Amino acid sequence: MFTVDCHVHTLRSACADPIDIEDYLERARQTGVERFAITDHSNDIYFDGEDRQRLKWMLSPDEYYRAVKKRSGQMDEYISHVSRYRDMGVHVGIELEQMPQSGDFIFDWDYRDQFEVVIGSVHSVPSIRKGIVKDADAAREEFLSLTLRALDQDIDILAHPTRSLRKAGVTMPESCSDAIIDKAVSRGISLEINSHSLDPGPEFLRRCFDKGAGLVLSTDSHSLREFGDFSFHRDLMKEAGLNGRNIEQHGFTLAGG
Ligand SMILES: [Zn+2]
Ligand SMILES: [Zn+2]
Repeated sequence: MFTVDCHVHTLRSACADPIDIEDYLERARQTGVERFAITDHSNDIYFDGEDRQRLKWMLSPDEYYRAVKKRSGQMDEYISHVSRYRDMGVHVGIELEQMPQSGDFIFDWDYRDQFEVVIGSVHSVPSIRKGIVKDADAAREEFLSLTLRALDQDIDILAHPTRSLRKAGVTMPESCSDAIIDKAVSRGISLEINSHSLDPGPEFLRRCFDKGAGLVLSTDSHSLREFGDFSFHRDLMKEAGLNGRNIEQHGFTLAGG
């Protein structure tokens, strides 16, 4: 039985259902989830409406950083909202999104210590637009470089570690998997099994295990329906020849637990 979920979205994330922490707490009681981290998207916390997409492509990293600094009020508000539920097994987290050109995360690192769970994600690869791949080799190269850049930064977990390529149907060579897993291990960053993205696949998971990578199980819930459902994780581990005990040995422990 899995009772911890490190990756959960609320209405503050643009692509999630209009649900908030109270809704999850009720569902947690029904499904046996004991602790979970709220991890809304950093870009969505800072920016509203069409700025969310527009600024990503317009601003240089320096300009972006200044824009983020100016909006620290939104981040303060987010942290204080989630913190109110700390006594109920809710952890204060965030899912950092990258600036598409540099791979730097959209985040004011002065806030790092206020978070118990910091997830980093690769969400866009320039050669893959709307699921269409212009050049598979370029996509692999960009994906690897954005992922390694993500792992350079001070995160706890790399989310859905192979999703961008898998979703686009681009195969990932072993050398690419190994580069990601080796770097995560050397940096002490956990890799995620994510049921929202159905990622990674069994082969990647086996390699993580062989190399002793830290693994976390997350639903990445964007709706109540997804929350508390670890069937994907169980099936995947079975397919990869692992069991729950293997994962616990390698698991990420949330602060305070
Ligand atoms: Zn994500
Ligand atoms: Zn997410």
